[in-house]
Amino acid sequence: MKLSDLKPRMLMGPGPSDVHPRVLAAMSQPTIGHLDPQFLECLNEIRNMLKAVFQTNNELTLAVSGTGSAGMETCVVNLIEPGDKILVCVNGVFGQRMTDVAARAGAEVITIERPWGAVFAADDVEAAIREKGPFKVVGIVHAETSTGAAQPIPSISEVAHEAGALLLVDTVTSLGGMEVDADGWQIDACYSGTQKCLSCPPGLSPVTFSAAAVAAMEARKTKVQSWYLDMSMVRAYWGSERLYHHTAPINMNYALHEALRIVLEEGLKARWERHALHHRSLKAGLEAMGIRYLADPDHQLPMLNAVAAPEGVHEGEVRTRLLDEYDIEIGAGLGAFKGKAWRIGLMGESATERHVTAVLSALGSVLSEKGIVKEKDAGLAAAKAAYGS
Ligand SMILES: *Cc1c(COP(=O)(O)O)cnc(C)c1O
Repeated sequence: MKLSDLKPRMLMGPGPSDVHPRVLAAMSQPTIGHLDPQFLECLNEIRNMLKAVFQTNNELTLAVSGTGSAGMETCVVNLIEPGDKILVCVNGVFGQRMTDVAARAGAEVITIERPWGAVFAADDVEAAIREKGPFKVVGIVHAETSTGAAQPIPSISEVAHEAGALLLVDTVTSLGGMEVDADGWQIDACYSGTQKCLSCPPGLSPVTFSAAAVAAMEARKTKVQSWYLDMSMVRAYWGSERLYHHTAPINMNYALHEALRIVLEEGLKARWERHALHHRSLKAGLEAMGIRYLADPDHQLPMLNAVAAPEGVHEGEVRTRLLDEYDIEIGAGLGAFKGKAWRIGLMGESATERHVTAVLSALGSVLSEKGIVKEKDAGLAAAKAAYGS
């Protein structure tokens, strides 16, 4: 194939999201050395911008080389030593993934579960700690991309800390699209990804560690199980020592630098409000077509709209038609929702009125042709009304 022939798409799945041309242009700047003073300045600025976006003063804040899952693994393997106990809250695919990663790192893993689409109450976590604790770490997903549920963090943080545990939070989907307050919520280890609401191609994973998390790492008796993700070495490159560990993915870091500049130019609050605005209109449109949301109505994510595929349609066929005929990508259901759901993302550059109206008009056409919705433009009209135009 010739890559120059690629057709652009509107990326409205669970990630990657649309990437701003400024970010793509930044990636094509000349590759320079990973110890070049210009590149080190770029890393320093990435760290400072990540601190602003995570809302933290944590000195140990950096971008791990690898996608969001590498961030998950980094947090887990640096905090966990073989035999350490971790409580993982599982209400979707990414909580499940955290249990797998923790077990492979030798943790004694205890899980609590909630149905898909539901969230945890502080009482659930408190009871588990009382019955099965103490735990070194409590792990939870802020924005569960497989179900569209938004987990409140502050109350969970309180019970975890009262019991002396470190709090580990997955903010892969939430960072840059809704409030994440690493210091205010006293998160000890937090990881994210570039490809969701930061609207940067996949490839890096921002992480930040509190002083308590750093102290736990420094008190380790055993080496970190992963050489590549060992923060004691990676931080010596990102810190003032500048010790070579592995070659930083130079041009990916350019992309993240530019993506973070765009986030901060817009402003965090304005960005969260933009995601909420387009979510409300998309939701009005989908519901006007009789499409039902899967997550608890009080805890719906703005950037990931997980909905039940209507009875009588083959969900995969509809997704394929959206891609082939409209150049719109939406996501399939994962895990328990496989074959039953669509996941419509409004992440970063993909959270615009243009995206909302495009997906609603495409879905309206395909579903009315199949006789599932009566009026092809019902969704579009409801979304327009929600925008107030
Ligand atoms: C996407 C995602 C991940 C994994 O990120 P990758 O970039 O696919 O490795 C982890 N957690 C959540 C909540 C996600 O949405």
